[in-house]
Parts: sequence; structure tokens; C-alpha cells
Amino acid sequence: MAKEYINRVMEIIVQRNPREYEFHQAVKEVLDSLEPALDRHPCYEKYKILERLTEPERVIVFRVPWVDDNGEYRVNRGFRVEFNCAIGPYKGGLRFHPSVNLGIMKFLGFEQILKNALTTLYMGGAKGGADFDPKGKSEREMMIFCQSFMTELYRHIGPATDVPAGDIGVGRRELGYMFGQYKRITNQFNGALTGKSLNWGGSQLRPEATGYGCVYFAREMLKTRGEEFKGKTCVISGAGNVSQFTAEKLIQLGAKVVSLSDSNGVIHDPAGIDAEKLAWVMDLKNKRRGRIREYTEKYPNAAYREKANPWDIPCDCAFPCATQNEIEEIDAKNLIKNGCYLVAEGANMPSTPAAIRVFQKAKILYGPGKAANAGGVAVSGLEMAQNAQFIHWSREYVDSKLQDLMKEIHDNSWRRAEEYGSVGDYVVGANISGFLKVADAMIEQGLV
Ligand code: NDP
Repeated sequence: MAKEYINRVMEIIVQRNPREYEFHQAVKEVLDSLEPALDRHPCYEKYKILERLTEPERVIVFRVPWVDDNGEYRVNRGFRVEFNCAIGPYKGGLRFHPSVNLGIMKFLGFEQILKNALTTLYMGGAKGGADFDPKGKSEREMMIFCQSFMTELYRHIGPATDVPAGDIGVGRRELGYMFGQYKRITNQFNGALTGKSLNWGGSQLRPEATGYGCVYFAREMLKTRGEEFKGKTCVISGAGNVSQFTAEKLIQLGAKVVSLSDSNGVIHDPAGIDAEKLAWVMDLKNKRRGRIREYTEKYPNAAYREKANPWDIPCDCAFPCATQNEIEEIDAKNLIKNGCYLVAEGANMPSTPAAIRVFQKAKILYGPGKAANAGGVAVSGLEMAQNAQFIHWSREYVDSKLQDLMKEIHDNSWRRAEEYGSVGDYVVGANISGFLKVADAMIEQGLV
């Protein structure tokens, strides 16, 4: 019965949201895994929860005009998808990347609903951004663009309404420019954005949170097999915020990190990227805004491959931390063939459905993004709590909270999977856990 309901809803979604392929993919992955929960609780169909959950509460699309350094007028498209606020104010990052479109915003916003529910904090789901390419832009262009973006977005956000943060292409610098403009227009200094700088309301450990959280989640997965990270060979994709801090925590825990990448190619350092090499990468990516291939000029024993990814490098554990659909079926097969038995997703939806099936069939430890990368939004939730009270928690305190939250997310996902007959399947466990919390809140709050 539930299967029929799912298929019916899926058909409607594809029809009503044409060409939004990533959105279809994200919804299908979730709905398919909810079947046992929908079978057990027929009330969700009666209350049309799937239909309501997959329709954003509000979608804002807007023009972002700006002037480049040559005096040319430029126009980009901005988005904010306020998907669901059943359990708290809308919360989710902003992405600046040329590939951004409505389908990608909706996939990310939809995932965010369940992810935020998993954190055990009170946050609804949203996502936003613009089809703007930060690459090669000057400081002035970045500032002007962020200001123009916020000149529209400000009217839709607020500490109790909608609280954006960073994502691809949006880090502390961009959040600073956006917060400045928000404050100027509204005349309010409040927690309408998270990921702020420490000096003016940011939380300790927010930049590290997604990467560290992903490793903490993976550590819990390893524990179920009585293992730890010491001596494990790990591959990581990407070289941005999530990748850098995934690498940092893995190195601290004694693992050997052998790869990083960007959209041009991948570096493989068989000797391992240690703390000193990672510090060099952080300077390259965050200050000099360089490309990962430059790593081999500094460390000639490493190899660089253009237009390649790290998934054919032998490893114990893999951390996709760049972007959606970066692990295809063939990559998943390569990983398994070369001995990988743990995949923890720092990125959102980095594995295609076919790749996920490969992992599930091989029964490896597979931590889907909405559980494994929830540490970022969890610490954003902690930033909101600190802002609301005008207080500041220490790094040690936030780190211990993050470790507790990741363990709780892991344990809840594990227990739910067990309860619904799929022991060890974190996809089923995470999706059902998040879904039940949001669905019940929607029913309790009536038809809104
Ligand atoms: P950054 O912009 O800091 O870094 C992104 C990295 O991924 C860069 O190395 C970039 O390479 C690479 N990348 C981006 N797009 C592509 C692409 N199409 N193909 C290949 N490589 C690509 O972003 P984040 O580290 O913040 O985000 C990475 C992932 O983590 C995203 O999926 C994001 O949604 C997810 N995430 C982020 C959170 C956060 O707190 N920041 C929270 C939860 C999830 P290049 O420089 O060449 O573009």
C-alpha cells in the first residue's frame, strides 16, 4: 500500500517540477526508504504528508544586479527556498556557484528538512544562493555582489524566521559582507545569519563543524565494527571548507589522508598529507585562492591528475566532500574493489542512486550526507542559541556538544534502522528518524 502511495506522489512530483532532476533524485531516495514507516503508520497518507512535505512552503526568486570591475552591468539570479518550518525557523546555507538553479536549490532545501530534524535541534529546512561564480572575482566584486544579494534577501530572513549560513562559494568573507548589508538596511544586529566571524557573534568551531562532525559520525560507524581511525588510509574529494576540516580531524585521529581535489583535478600524495602540508593547502585555497594542482609544485612526490577524481585510489575510507553526484556507479565499484569499506558523505548527495546501491549491496559502512554532514548545521544551531542569549561558548564546550550531537545522530539512525528491519542501513535509519519528527509536528500543527 505504501509503495503505491510513494509511486503516486513521485509521479506527481516529476510532472509538477519538470527538469528539476536533482530534486526528483533527492525526493525519490527519501520516499523509497520511508516505505516501512508509511506501512506502519497509515495516518501519514491520510494527512497527505508526502504531498505537503515535498511542496516548498515558499520559493523566492530574485534579480541580483551588480557592476563588475570593468564597469559592465551584470545580472544574476538569486534564490531562497523556504521549504518547511514545522520544527523551527527555516535554516540552511547559501550557495554561490554557476550551476545553481531551482532544482538544485529544492534538492538541497528538501534534504535540509530531514537533516535539521536529525540534529535534535529546533530548525526547519531551507536553502538559497545564486548562479554567480566567485572564481576570479576581485574583493570589490565579491562585496558588491554580496551586498546586492542581501538587498533583496534581507526582507525574508531574521533570527526567528529564516537563518541562512554558508555553503559552496560562501564562507566567512561572504557572510561578513552580507551581514554588513543586512545590518545597514534593517538597523538590527541579530542572529539572522550563522557562520559569522568570532569577533561579532560567530560560534567557535563553526568553520570546522561540518568536516569534524563528518569524521565524528564516521568514528561511530567504525566503532560498530570495533575499529578506529588510527592507521587507516583515507581519500577526500574537494579542497574547500568541508574537505579541509575533514582532513584536519582525520590527521588528528591518526589516519593517513592521501588525496584532495577541486573541479580541475585530484592530487594523490601516497606519503600522506600531514598537518604541515594541510596548513599549506589551507593557505593556498583560503588566502591565495589557488588551485589544488599547485600542491605538486610544492610537494613533488605527489601526483596530479587533471579531470580525475580520487575514487580509484586504494583506501579504507572515503570522504566525498565536494558536490552532488560526484560518485557514480563505476566509482563506487572501484572503491569497493580497492578495499574501501567506509564512505561518509561530507557533501550533500555526492553519491548517485546507483552508487548507493553498490555500497548497500556490498554492506559497507555508508553514512549518507544528511546524517554524516549534519555537524555544520548543528553548530549553526548552537550559534543561534548563543546569539539569542548574547553569550559565547568556549571551543572545548562547542566541540564536546558537536561530538555528543554526532553520536546521537548516529545512534538514532542506527536504532531506527533496526526498528524498521534494516539493521546497519543508515539511509533508512536517518530518513525515517528525520521524517517521523517532522511529519508528526505537521500533523499536530494542523493543515497549514
Ligand atoms: P567550498 O566552496 O568551500 O568547497 C567546495 C569544493 O568542492 C571546492 O574544492 C570545489 O572546487 C569543489 N567543487 C565544487 N563544485 C564542484 C563540481 N561541480 N565538481 C567538482 N568539484 C567541485 O564548499 P563547502 O566545502 O562548504 O561544501 C562542499 C559540500 O559540502 C557541498 O556539497 C555542500 O553542500 C556540503 N555541505 C557544506 C556545509 C558547510 O557547512 N559548508 C554543511 C553541509 C554540507 P572548485 O574550487 O574547483 O570549485
